[in-house]
Amino acid sequence: MTAERGYHIEDIRSRARAAFIGLAVGDSLGAPVEFMTAGEIEEKYGVLKEIVGGGWLRLKPGQVTDDTDMALCIARALAAAGGWSLTGIADNFAGWLKSKPVDVGATCRRGIRNYMLKGTLETPYNQWDAGNGAAMRMLPVALLTLGDERMMADCVVAQARITHNHPLSDGACVVLGKLLHLALLGVSKSRLRLELEGLLAQHESFRFDHYHGLSTGYVVDTMQTVFHHFFRGRDFEECLVGAVNQGGDADTTAAIVGSLAGACYGMEGIPRRWLKKMDKNLLAEIDRLARKLIDLSPLATAAAGCN
Ligand code: MN
Ligand code: MN
Repeated sequence: MTAERGYHIEDIRSRARAAFIGLAVGDSLGAPVEFMTAGEIEEKYGVLKEIVGGGWLRLKPGQVTDDTDMALCIARALAAAGGWSLTGIADNFAGWLKSKPVDVGATCRRGIRNYMLKGTLETPYNQWDAGNGAAMRMLPVALLTLGDERMMADCVVAQARITHNHPLSDGACVVLGKLLHLALLGVSKSRLRLELEGLLAQHESFRFDHYHGLSTGYVVDTMQTVFHHFFRGRDFEECLVGAVNQGGDADTTAAIVGSLAGACYGMEGIPRRWLKKMDKNLLAEIDRLARKLIDLSPLATAAAGCN
């Protein structure tokens, strides 16, 4: 079926699936070197290009961490609700925290605990909340809101504020949402770079022209690392290998790069040897959720004449 303005909904579903699988692949590729420096990675692996497992979390090859887990929480909540549901997302986060996940960021843990204890859906502003924990998990919201930028901006910020309340975290979520929307519709990478230039006029701190190699969990460092490696890499693999070997918060930067690169290059771009390392059930669930979220989006429902 061809949607309005020439979009092929099946292509968009496929890009959405690649974006979500790209996120999980980036997470499992980067997690073994999370918190290592670029120099330490080079000493141990040369250039890390394979999904090896291990690291400070002692992961099995292909195992994912909080980045994928929290994105899955959001996707499951939205798919189950058949649309936007902030309480659904918070309930899924709570269930996940109770399941004793392999790792949880401190800011995320605090926000989810406050929801569990007090029902708080928006954590108060905090100057220390400029971590990347809200940006790393926002992809499913971009899928659900495809075709409506305003809804995207409202919803990505709302999900962020369950745990993080800081303008830099909010800004990162919105900028990523806009780029993902464009990439999902199949715009070229050079056009994405131009669009980003426009967005950076309002988000100066994410400028990456003079990238200094800082790849910490501070969302400014994370965004600069993501943009540097996403726009530098010539294919999915190069983008991810670049981000991972930068070290620091490597699983999170690679997860975000993976979602952008997945949307941009599609399933054909994701190396088969990486897909083979991933859990089959996880990939099947991501596949189902990505399709469902796109089918619930304003773009798909408008195309189907349901609006
Ligand atoms: Mn992680
Ligand atoms: Mn991380």
